[in-house]
Amino acid sequence: MITINTTSVKKSENTIYQKEQITCDNIELIGQYDVVVVGGGPAGVAAAETTARKGLKTLLVEKNGFLGGQAVGGLSGTICGLYLTNEEWTCKNGPKQIVFGFAEKLRKRLLKNGGLSEPQLYGNTYVEAHDPFVWKYSAEELLMEAGAEILYHTVVTDVKVEKRNIKEIVVNTADGYGLVQADYFIDTSGDAVLVANSGGEFRMGQNGVVQNPSLIFMINGVDDERFWNYFGENTICSDDFSEKIREAEKKFGVSLPRKKIWIFKCPNKGQLYINATSVSKKDGNCLNCIDAEEKTFAEINSRKQALAYFRLLKEYIPGCENSYITVTGSEVGVRQTRSIVAKKTLLNKDVENCIKSDEGIAKSSWPIELHRGEKPKLYWLQDDYYEIPFGTMVPDCLDNVLVAGRCIDAEHEALASSRVTAQCFSEGHAAGIAVVLSKNSGIKVYDIEGKDVRKALNNDGARL
Ligand SMILES: Cc1cc2nc3c(=O)[nH]c(=O)nc-3n(C[C@H](O)[C@H](O)[C@H](O)COP(=O)(O)OP(=O)(O)OC[C@H]3O[C@@H](n4cnc5c(N)ncnc54)[C@H](O)[C@@H]3O)c2cc1C
Repeated sequence: MITINTTSVKKSENTIYQKEQITCDNIELIGQYDVVVVGGGPAGVAAAETTARKGLKTLLVEKNGFLGGQAVGGLSGTICGLYLTNEEWTCKNGPKQIVFGFAEKLRKRLLKNGGLSEPQLYGNTYVEAHDPFVWKYSAEELLMEAGAEILYHTVVTDVKVEKRNIKEIVVNTADGYGLVQADYFIDTSGDAVLVANSGGEFRMGQNGVVQNPSLIFMINGVDDERFWNYFGENTICSDDFSEKIREAEKKFGVSLPRKKIWIFKCPNKGQLYINATSVSKKDGNCLNCIDAEEKTFAEINSRKQALAYFRLLKEYIPGCENSYITVTGSEVGVRQTRSIVAKKTLLNKDVENCIKSDEGIAKSSWPIELHRGEKPKLYWLQDDYYEIPFGTMVPDCLDNVLVAGRCIDAEHEALASSRVTAQCFSEGHAAGIAVVLSKNSGIKVYDIEGKDVRKALNNDGARL
């Protein structure tokens, strides 16, 4: 008997939700693995590479036909979170890398394959932009070399749970439904699909308020010299630029809701990533992007907005006169949906106060980057970092499942910092290592000690 989940119901007055369950059966078994990783974004790629490289039979299931998740499908475009944040608005110390392990492995492969820019200034820190095509095949190369299997165009729709263990998952392929069994599951779906479908508890931002989604687009045909002379070296736009947005809004008679936008230099000449759009409901409330109707609204309206921001660039910004949009995210970029309820929660104050932990599995110096309203909130850490505890990835309700990436247990503002790519790589790496520790020791993954994961990560190049 397989449980099929349908609608989300609010469990309590405040922030806890749980799914209602109905049942169905008669689905064929199509595979058996040591580990199944659900979702091929940054966290999933890191997790699957790690377990496969360590000799576990690993399958990564991905609903798209490529790896990268929001980093590629959402065209988020840069690796944030690799570098230490500097003193306010000076960056006098230059880029100082603090995240290694799997992040460094993929970074090196992107560089080798010609798909990564030099570090570029973002406020008080640095980011590196990647080419989306190079990201896809570089990640595939690493997974193939490690011996992982990938199943694309396959959506996990349900799970079967027995005594706190997921026994199998239901997948929907072009050829119909199938069952996949494994000893361990790693939920890197971004939306916590395994935990939610297991009946596990989750939160949605702060009392249901989540960050706005954005459709990122890439333009080509830019005169780099003229553009960067005008824009300045910081990839966060100046107040003068914000004024241009206000002027264009009046002139075009369209809404350009975000007045502080980010523009990044792509690895190839004449190309820019434009991170400008921001969509919310007509009444200004936030969109829930695990609701099909609301996500459809976000897709349609973010495309309209992307066109309006592009018009602003062409008509107002030196160097962009002959530019054209080459690609947008294959879907609107979703920053936040479900956050699981885990053994530990990454608190807002842990981030603000740069708290370290003896079970820290990821370092982060990335600011709280909260996308709501006309100016995303940026709260900068100063020459310091916090650590994400392993317990944030261990769901309360399951013994053989770990979660990594943007759906770990983190408070709203803490997540607005921890959700970026470098930290998702570190969490995926940690999930993979923890599963290997569990397999080798016979201790259930729920009981694996975070400090042992940290130690094993350091033996695997993480430099924590
Ligand atoms: C607009 C925007 C801009 C951003 N800009 C940056 C930036 O410049 N730099 C940076 O470092 N970060 C940026 N981020 C954040 C970063 O891209 C994401 O937080 C990161 O990609 C999250 O990684 P993840 O692996 O947790 O999840 P995701 O990237 O969301 O990957 C989850 C994967 O799971 C798959 N999946 C989901 N459900 C299922 C299912 N049921 N069955 C099978 N597969 C499933 C999805 O298709 C996806 O591939 C940005 C995010 C957004 C939205």
